[in-house]
This record gives sequence, structure tokens and C-alpha cells, in this order.
Amino acid sequence: MVGITSKLSQSEIVEEFMGWLEQRNPGETEFHQAVYEVGINVLPFLLENPEYMEAEIFRRLTEPDRIIIFRVAWQDDAGNIQVNRGYRVQHNNAIGPYKGGLRFHPSVNLSILKFLAFEQTFKNSLTGLPMGGGKGGSDFDPKGKSDAEVMRFCQSFMSELYRHIGPHTDVPAGDIGVGAREISYLFGQYKRIANQFTGVLTGKGLAFGGSEMRVEATGYGCVYMMKDMLKHRGDSIGGKTAIVSGSGNVAQYTVEKLIELGAKPVTMSDSSGFIFDPAGIDEEKLAWIKELKQQRRGRISEYATAFGVEYHEGKRPWGVPCQLAFPCATQNEISREDAQTLLNNGCMGVSEGANMPSEQAAIDRFQDAKILFSPSKAANAGGVAVSGLEMAQNSMRLSWSRDELNRHLREIMLDIHNRCAVYGTESDHYVNYLKGANIAGFIKVADAMLAYGVM
Ligand code: NDP
Repeated sequence: MVGITSKLSQSEIVEEFMGWLEQRNPGETEFHQAVYEVGINVLPFLLENPEYMEAEIFRRLTEPDRIIIFRVAWQDDAGNIQVNRGYRVQHNNAIGPYKGGLRFHPSVNLSILKFLAFEQTFKNSLTGLPMGGGKGGSDFDPKGKSDAEVMRFCQSFMSELYRHIGPHTDVPAGDIGVGAREISYLFGQYKRIANQFTGVLTGKGLAFGGSEMRVEATGYGCVYMMKDMLKHRGDSIGGKTAIVSGSGNVAQYTVEKLIELGAKPVTMSDSSGFIFDPAGIDEEKLAWIKELKQQRRGRISEYATAFGVEYHEGKRPWGVPCQLAFPCATQNEISREDAQTLLNNGCMGVSEGANMPSEQAAIDRFQDAKILFSPSKAANAGGVAVSGLEMAQNSMRLSWSRDELNRHLREIMLDIHNRCAVYGTESDHYVNYLKGANIAGFIKVADAMLAYGVM
């Protein structure tokens, strides 16, 4: 295997492998970061498991099965023709159809989607459900667009994407900038072109094949993960002060579950700044935020005016003292310095709702300090898990109750916690959840790839 011989030290093995990967994928910094984050655990594991090493499983896993890139032309309300770029990275389908969200954001590029698709493969494996990994999206920005413009964009996007997806092939879902409105337009167009009503997207409305608990699943799951990590240390969430970034889908339902479990969430943010409410965001204030973000599509700064609290323009919330932190906005939002500030202020646990929100140096700080740290591939897996259950319900043409789905979600998150503990517990009993998640997620995919032979 490239860069792997038993004569090298573990760090030399990782360094050699990363040199090969970076040369092969120049400039794709987020993709390099994501592979490194998995490689530091999986590459040393290969030395002890030569069957994976000889079959070059990890190297094969850094090459997506297929990438589709396409033009998306659409007309704005003023009659001008606009051109965006659409993508679908079908990363790996060893254990099930490609599955992963669509992101509509101006920052979207191939590096970001390859990192997300790579992570998704391990995350989906961790859920225990039969789902491969994929991710897609566009550099289209839904912010500031009318509903009619978003509809025309989604219809144009799906007019190409539809030929590459299907309920047994690839099942996209939402992500940043793709919520209930966008999924509805996308599903409507798929249904119209394919002349099929199938579970080809998840996150659908309840009236047309959606699942109860899907909107809540990622945020709730992220808090369940924290609950289980604390329990493992004989502690609990109740009474703890929590800071949350973001104010979208994941952040809203993280805050909702924190309130329900008796914690005090004091911050939320968007890309313009964050609010700090020392009294705590309660159910009533959260309902106000949901209306602000889901209906009016307003800015979080309006909360500060409405409730008379501090608003910090252009800042992230990591300087606010807390015991628990839930980054739920976007990648690389916690730097090494932010991590140090969190530690100095007494933070004892971080559960990543967003994908790869902590830079590698920040993760190193958390782990050196031996605080609880759950990486995104474990902490936010609840979303895709309930998406998997939406696929199951669509196949069976029936719907499960909210209670039943919440029970499944709870069990899946506990199972993820426990598998991370099996593979991540170190000699001093510290649980390295990142290592545990990486290895547990890798093994299932790797075993399937081994069984298929060379392809
Ligand atoms: P939403 O679009 O609903 O919300 C995103 C939130 O993050 C918004 O408040 C947004 O602010 C903020 N944000 C986005 N980009 C930036 C940025 N560059 N800097 C600061 N703030 C930013 O997305 P989701 O809540 O669905 O997703 C959030 C994260 O969770 C993403 O990393 C996503 O990949 C991950 N995730 C989501 C899942 C889901 O089920 N939805 C499942 C698993 C992971 P603004 O409105 O100003 O842009």
C-alpha cells in the first residue's frame, strides 16, 4: 500500500499517505483534512489487520466511486438567465445505496463535497443501517431568492440529477440551504420526470412520504450522544450551561432537546453573528426562533432586539463560558484558539452537530485535555439514521409513529456511543470517540469491499 510498511512509525505512515493523497487531489484542503482525521486512526489499525492493508481498502476508499458535475441554468424573477454548477459525489455503495444530503451554498465546491461524502460513508456505516455514502449540491445561494426562483432552480437541478439517482441507487436528502421547501420542489420534479412515486429523497413532507422525527433527528441525536457520553462518566446534562452555534435545522432541535433535558442553552448564531441570552433560551423563545428562521427567513440579530439581549456581530459564540458546546453551523468553525478558550472557560464536553466543525488542532486540544468529544460522524448520525428509517417506511408503504421513531433513534445513538467506546477506549480509560467512530465505521465497509474482490 502507498506509504505503508511496517518499518515506518505510525506518524510516518500517516505522513506518507497524506503526501500521496494531496498530490493526487491538489488544492482540496477540506478533503485532505477529512481523510487525515480518519487516517490517523485507520492507517495504524491496518498494520494490525493486514488483510485490509493488502487489499488497499483505505486507499480505494479515498477515491469516490463516481462524481457527476453538471450545469444548472435557470431564470430569475427579472428574466435574466443564471448559471450555477451542480454536483453529486457518489462516494461508496459497498453496504447500500449512496445516501447523503444536498447542500446549496455559495461556498460549495468539489473539495467540500468530497469531504462530506467521504465522512458520510463512515457515518452511515456507524448507524448500522444499509446505506452507502454520497453528497451533492450546488453553489446556488437560496438566501435572498424568491420562492419562485428557488423552485425554478430546484426544477432545473433535478432535471439533470434525476437520471443519476433512484430508491435503490442513490437517495439524497437536505443539508445547509436545503430544507423542507427545497426537498419538496426537488421531489415534485423527480416524480414528474420519472413518473414514479418512490422514496428517492428523504426529508420529504409528511403528506408525501416523509417520516415523523426526521426534522428533529440530527439535533436530538447530537444531544443524546452528549447524554450518553456524560452518563459513561457518571454525569448528566441537567443544569448545565450549553452554547450552540447555528440557528438552522440542526441547531434548533439541539436547543429543543437541551431544554427538554434541563440544560440551559444560552447562544445561537448565523453567518452574521451570535446572540447571548444569559437567562437561557426557553421553549417560547425557541418557538420564536423557529418562526423567524423557518417562516420569515430572518436574521438571528432580530432575537437580540426582540428579547433585549446581547448580539455580537461577525463573531462566533466560543468565548461564552459554558460546560457543554454544540457546534451546529458549518465546517471549521472551531479553531485551536477557540478550543483553548472553551477549555479555559471550563467546557467539559463537545458534541459536533455540524460536519467537521472543529479544526484538527482544536480536536487535538480537546483530546489532550481529556474532555468529552464526539466527532460529527457519530454525533450527527441521527439525521441520516432516521432518513434510513424513512427509506424503510417508503419501501413498506407505511408510516411509523413518532414514539416508535424516537425509540429507534434513541437506540441507534446509544449503539453508536457503545461501539465508539469499544474501539476507542484507551489504556487510561479515556474514550477517544473519534478513534472509536473511525474504526467502527471503517470495518463494516471494509469487510464488504473485501468480499467483493478488486473493483
Ligand atoms: P441550515 O441551512 O438549516 O442551517 C445552517 C446554519 O449554519 C444557519 O444558521 C447558517 O447561517 C449557519 N451557517 C452556514 N454557513 C455558515 C458559515 N460559513 N459561517 C457561520 N454560520 C454559517 O443547515 P443544517 O442545520 O441542516 O446544517 C448545519 C450543519 O449540520 C452542516 O454542517 C450540515 O452538514 C450538518 N448536518 C445536517 C444534517 C441535517 O439533518 N440537516 C445532518 C447531518 C449533518 P445563515 O443562515 O446566515 O447562512
